[in-house]
Amino acid sequence: MILGVADHPSFEVSLEGFLRFASKLKVSVVELKLDRPELLSALSKTSMIIRIKDLLSSYTFKYFVHAPSIDINLASLNPSLREASEKTLLKAVDFAAKTNAELLVSHVGRLSRDYPRKLVKKSMENAIYSLETIVQASNDLGVLFTIENDHKSSDYVLAGYSEQIRFLIENVGCKFTLDVGHANTVGKIEDFTKLLDKFIVNIHIHDNNGIEDEHLPIGKGSINFVEMFETMKGWLRKRPLIIECHSFAGITKSIEFVKQSFLSKQR
Ligand SMILES: [Zn+2]
Repeated sequence: MILGVADHPSFEVSLEGFLRFASKLKVSVVELKLDRPELLSALSKTSMIIRIKDLLSSYTFKYFVHAPSIDINLASLNPSLREASEKTLLKAVDFAAKTNAELLVSHVGRLSRDYPRKLVKKSMENAIYSLETIVQASNDLGVLFTIENDHKSSDYVLAGYSEQIRFLIENVGCKFTLDVGHANTVGKIEDFTKLLDKFIVNIHIHDNNGIEDEHLPIGKGSINFVEMFETMKGWLRKRPLIIECHSFAGITKSIEFVKQSFLSKQR
């Protein structure tokens, strides 16, 4: 099992503090969230990226990078905002390459509910256009680029359902980060594992009650993780499970839950 933890801007510690916490958990992967203000301000400054790379290489983790998602919308109908979003994503690709990260994950974006539904097609076209540019830049720099499935929202979601993800992946040629918690807010998790199996290279795990994206500790919501791990056991050896809870206590509890579920299987 390849286990990792994801950083989050709500954690009240520095990046170094988060890395120290992760090293106590004995996980092998850390997913950096570029929405952390400390990392956002480093995005345009090579000297700062080099300093961060030095910090990262003082630990033995493999690193994944989560591109900025707060305020970012590749599907925006506003050309200035979409351009700024695409530019931010290209900086994230550069950051991932410069820090030797193994993978980059990004959200796709949504169309605001304030627009009429008929504009969804245009918004999807915009997202595809930007993603194509980002995938090209990632390929050029040797970064494995993935999109992540969205959770339920009152805006028009463009990458929430498995069919939407399939459509996007087939159009832009990227890989997939399956967010199990997000999938649980829109439907059945098996719909994603069945339709998108060959594209999954990363898995985010956290729990919820099927309505809101709560990022609860594993086992505290309605997802049957024991059953899920059982069905995934054939490929969990190769695909990393990244715990994405929004509290240190939640991360610690989730790790205990995952390890116990696996150990009980081996008895
Ligand atoms: Zn996620």
